[in-house]
Amino acid sequence: MKFAFTTKGDPKSNTLMHKMRSQLLEFDLIYDEDQPDIVISVGGDGTLLYAFHRYSSRLDKTAFVGVHTGHLGFYADWVPDEIEKLVIAIAKTPYQVIEYPLLEVIIRYQHGGKETRYLALNESTVRAVEGTLVMDVEIRGDHFERFRGDGLCISTPSGSTAYNKALGGAILHPSISAIQVTEMASINNRIFRTVGSPLILPSHHTCMLKPVNEPDFQITIDHLTLLHKDVKSIQYRVADEKIRFARFRPFPFWKRVRDSFISDKN
Ligand code: NAD
Repeated sequence: MKFAFTTKGDPKSNTLMHKMRSQLLEFDLIYDEDQPDIVISVGGDGTLLYAFHRYSSRLDKTAFVGVHTGHLGFYADWVPDEIEKLVIAIAKTPYQVIEYPLLEVIIRYQHGGKETRYLALNESTVRAVEGTLVMDVEIRGDHFERFRGDGLCISTPSGSTAYNKALGGAILHPSISAIQVTEMASINNRIFRTVGSPLILPSHHTCMLKPVNEPDFQITIDHLTLLHKDVKSIQYRVADEKIRFARFRPFPFWKRVRDSFISDKN
């Protein structure tokens, strides 16, 4: 089996990575940065997001596992004390693969030009470059609302515990193939109206955002922020691709939610 690492880059994560690397090589596993079967992310959720984007062109051939060197992460759920157990599990046991849905983002431009396509593991957000974001929101080809406010966030089920949660969105179990649209400070008064609630769309529905006047936007894809000019539309839907996590022990999603947000005791 071929393995690779991504690390947060701090001394603690790097030391842990070197230790795991030597142990895996002793088990005759092959270090291959270009075509790994398994990618071990050492750091936090941000490190796993980075790993996902680095290997997003080979998602069907690569499984991910996360070790956290800070606080418990959603994607990074192994602690440094457990790495020997993890190394033996990677080297010796056929692992179970758990698949989570991803968000597909397609940006089209006003003057033709090639559309751009991204995959997000957590979410994509849209904001104006300056001032209020004004966008028409279409769902499944029909006009739904004209949004005015700070921005919109479209998240995956596994990303629902990240930015989406801070915006009042629901936490979705990642076995549900859906995307969630949440508002950032919408303007609501007697003239302007938005639905106000988060929307959860099934995998066969598309959410399309269309500029009303200003065509330039700040668009995030997970931890990346990009400026897109002359945008004609931004299309969101559940991607055909999925991320694959290598599971060596059960760690149910709702337990992770409880341990992260409520308590790891009681
Ligand atoms: P960062 O260093 O600012 O970390 C943000 C925090 O989000 C970290 O504590 C991380 O553990 C947590 N996080 C990331 N993915 C998560 C998930 N799926 N479930 C629960 N918590 C999660 O930024 P980063 O490490 O580069 O991560 C980028 C992510 O930060 C974005 O995808 C976005 O979801 C999140 N974010 C959150 C807020 C907010 O909560 N107000 C604002 C901006 C970005």
